[in-house]
Amino acid sequence: MTRRRSKSEARRTTVFREGRIAKLLERGWIKQASEIPADAIPVDPDLVNFGGSWCRPPSFFRALSFLCKDCGVLCTWSAESQRWYYEVVKAPYYSTAVRCRGCRYKERERVREARRRAGHDPEGK
Ligand SMILES: [Zn+2]
Repeated sequence: MTRRRSKSEARRTTVFREGRIAKLLERGWIKQASEIPADAIPVDPDLVNFGGSWCRPPSFFRALSFLCKDCGVLCTWSAESQRWYYEVVKAPYYSTAVRCRGCRYKERERVREARRRAGHDPEGK
């Protein structure tokens, strides 16, 4: 987290945040702006993919701590990474971070290798 922010950047962040809060209020996701903690990023209801079955959608992203499923290291999933994951990647809400960066990379390599061995690579034999 950086403390050195230009004025225009800080203003952009405020506009971004207030725009999202206004939308959440309008949609009835929150009753008042104070429901969004200062260190959290408000959700954009138009960008997330939480599905109809989710009865109480989260109204903000906030840094989460979790233990890596593979190596057990304590990791932090930042609010900004969550925003990217749910709003840009459009991940469903039940899908969350389970591995640290290093293990995620190893897992990706493992899956790729398994696919290759399963014969998806014509040169593999
Ligand atoms: Zn790990």
